[in-house]
Amino acid sequence: MTGLSDSFQRPVNYLRISVTDRCNLRCIYCMPADGVSLVSHQDILSYEETYTVVLAAAELGIDKVRITGGEPLVRLGLPELIRMLARIEAIDDISLTTNGLLLGSYAAELKRAGLRRVNVSLDTLKPDRFEFITRRHNNLGDVLDGIEAAKSVGLNPVKINTVVMAGINDDELLDFAAKTIDEGWHIRFIELMLPVGVSTTAAQFVSVSDMRKRLKQLGKLEPCLPSVGNGPAKYFRFPQAKGTIGFITPVSEHFCFGCNRLRLTSDGKLRPCLLAEDEIDLRQPLRSGVSSDGLKQLIEEAVDRKPLQHHLDEGYIPKNRPFSQVGG
Ligand code: SAM
Repeated sequence: MTGLSDSFQRPVNYLRISVTDRCNLRCIYCMPADGVSLVSHQDILSYEETYTVVLAAAELGIDKVRITGGEPLVRLGLPELIRMLARIEAIDDISLTTNGLLLGSYAAELKRAGLRRVNVSLDTLKPDRFEFITRRHNNLGDVLDGIEAAKSVGLNPVKINTVVMAGINDDELLDFAAKTIDEGWHIRFIELMLPVGVSTTAAQFVSVSDMRKRLKQLGKLEPCLPSVGNGPAKYFRFPQAKGTIGFITPVSEHFCFGCNRLRLTSDGKLRPCLLAEDEIDLRQPLRSGVSSDGLKQLIEEAVDRKPLQHHLDEGYIPKNRPFSQVGG
């Protein structure tokens, strides 16, 4: 097998799969308070259909998948999908991105099913603020329990993703960073993507360079060497810390040149780029009995159509569906 590469010679070996557009939170920057219009249940790919896509993709060279949403753990029976994907020999890494609310109940079963690691999105360590940001009851405790449950069953690493917003949670930067020293947390600070955000304003944007300046109060951040991870984050640590701090700069310094991914939306569209409207429909072909070769051709076409980079900085925003429906 030679593997997939796009028209700019970037290898593509990673598929992010959104299994639902539903979410049990309404984070202020991600979703409107009353939600977004939802895809009807019959339009969502079944687990068998998702498996068929991943099998074809794996035969072409995809070896990493990440399950996301919406909130993936609100989809019934998610461990069953993980079990199915774990049976595909060529897939050697299955991970999950979640808001962590239901992780405490599912961590052990997910691990047994074949999940390797998990990213938990958490923007505050303050209970009242959790309620404000997520527009849901104060259940920060459930997320923290979920993180501990994930660690205790051996999901590794457990990474915390924090979107930093001025005037909303940027005063917690040092509290989060201290957890890499005191508790060995692995935290990734993410720049707010203003153009795809909901009700976001330029005044809320905090650049990674600004974050790094503020973190100097805790000591000197040293790069993790040899470099860790194969995604967009750049990793550092404080000398006395077991945990790491990653920075993700989708806006101030985009990382499209290393982009190795495709995205599958919950309604079966293959998306060459998170931040462009282009999509290739797989659901209709799947439901009309497309052959494995036919499916592979569609996947190769999506890889071919990967753009060189996104154009958020020039004000271009994909309009055909909200960010939460592509699978962040
Ligand atoms: N429900 C899951 C979760 O909470 O991780 C997966 C989906 S959620 C859309 C994925 C990630 O996208 C979350 O970490 C969220 O903070 C991030 N996100 C959503 N809107 C964003 C924006 N405008 N800028 C930066 N990150 C954003």
